[in-house]
Amino acid sequence: MESTKTAHGSKQSKQKYIFVTGGVLSGVGKGITAASIGSVLQAKGSYVSIQKCDPYLNVDAGLLNPKEHGECYVTKDGAETDLDLGHYERFLDIELTQKNATLAGRLLSNLIADERAGKFGGQTVQLVPHLTREIQKAILTAGHGSDVHIVEIGGTVGDYEGLSFVEAIREFAMKVGRENCMYVHVVYVPFIGTSKEFKSKPAQNALNDLRGFGIVPDAVIVRSDNEAPSSIARKIALFGGIPESAVLMMPNVDSVFRIPEVIAESPLMKHLEYFTSNTKKPDLSKWSTLIKHQQAKKSRRVKVGMVAKYLDNEDTYISVLEALKAAAWQENVELDLTWINAETINHAELDAVDAILVPGGFGQRGIEGKIAAANYALEHKKPYLGLCLGLQVAVVAAARRAGLKDANSTEFNADTTHDVVYIMEGQAGKESTGGTLRLGDYEAELAKGSLAAETYGSTNIVERHRHRYEVNQRFKAEIEKGGLTISGTSPDGKLVEFVEAKDHPYFLATQAHPEFKSRPFKAHPMFVGLIRAVTH
Ligand code: GLN
Repeated sequence: MESTKTAHGSKQSKQKYIFVTGGVLSGVGKGITAASIGSVLQAKGSYVSIQKCDPYLNVDAGLLNPKEHGECYVTKDGAETDLDLGHYERFLDIELTQKNATLAGRLLSNLIADERAGKFGGQTVQLVPHLTREIQKAILTAGHGSDVHIVEIGGTVGDYEGLSFVEAIREFAMKVGRENCMYVHVVYVPFIGTSKEFKSKPAQNALNDLRGFGIVPDAVIVRSDNEAPSSIARKIALFGGIPESAVLMMPNVDSVFRIPEVIAESPLMKHLEYFTSNTKKPDLSKWSTLIKHQQAKKSRRVKVGMVAKYLDNEDTYISVLEALKAAAWQENVELDLTWINAETINHAELDAVDAILVPGGFGQRGIEGKIAAANYALEHKKPYLGLCLGLQVAVVAAARRAGLKDANSTEFNADTTHDVVYIMEGQAGKESTGGTLRLGDYEAELAKGSLAAETYGSTNIVERHRHRYEVNQRFKAEIEKGGLTISGTSPDGKLVEFVEAKDHPYFLATQAHPEFKSRPFKAHPMFVGLIRAVTH
């Protein structure tokens, strides 16, 4: 068999591809499953890369409604992506880029631009073979250099809009060799309460659908709310035409971080080992340590008030929540998260929490409540963490405290005379286009001896960004008079990156989104700082 050397330096016979598709319904943990398979292989020393393909006609996730789709996750190169990339980064502890997020809208818009540029020399441009070829190219690019490349296809097989992706991954095996591709189908088995039985029929139909598109899976992962009987696994194996050992029953577990272990201990592992020719024992100690921390008896509770406007969908702030949880596990405290509605916020709610967090956000709704929360934290010396918009409202609160009563961000009051947060020169007039955001990694220099520098243990840091408005340093004196110091800026000093309060247990805010770089087993220092301010 041909042998290739990967960019990572490890040698293996040909690059392997694992395609993760879904059946029955979406939202049953396909992303976590894909990431967990990756982390098991990573724990065996393989160099793993991962990619999400979404059949939407959007070009990126930047303009998608977070209420419906969950958070927009931002990569270091500024790609605005689906929240699954966050799962991948947290599970695999790697940094992904635009090439790891493939949306049908982006591929189609490039394809149409090429057609307009006359690049097809008179050909009829079609979904097959032109779009499918673009999908395959995107897969090859994203997987380049890794031992195993995992590709998750969004939605469920059979969705009208996803057909080109299913066809593309079917053909892919003909290009790279079927032996180098593993197809994993994630299905759901419902429990019918009235007859008290699990039903495998929808899963069987989903396997039928997949076969109808020419893909016979190598493994099936069966999600269910509770443990389903082994007869279900037998039925699915028989129907899927695969050995029973390639059917992994995966009922809900107490912690998603247990899934790598569940996979590693299942008979499916043999198939994965054979497929990757890697029989090394996986080192899953970081996962078991994490679960131990997660489930340890906690020394105390910390009540964090999250001042937000979307309260009915935790996915909207998933990275912030994961970052808070990671910090709480590390500090051995029980996180008691209280959602505070920014539109109806009152003092009693703020009195009742140990710490306040104002996360990122766009738009006017709830903004006065967020400013009030920052003001409360300044006045009552309550630990405060401000993320992006959370910094901007803190700056507005400080300027108002210094007497600039109408201080505001021009995002919320375009006519304010005291535009303490504003659109910088060169950006004005482009506010409503998708393209003017400051996105991705930016460096910041932190003032020596500041809380920011102390928290990071460094004066030079890099964080990811996603915002349009900046602090107006013309009002530096007023912001300081109101109680805040600018403690971090861009290296040229033009952009404010961090502010903090003097004589305060912990009031730290950043223009960036540090939550994207937190990992479950490596909590981010700003979140740890917030928890410690309460416990120390
Ligand atoms: N709406 C603010 C801006 O555009 C903050 C953005 C955010 O919190 N991500 O600058």
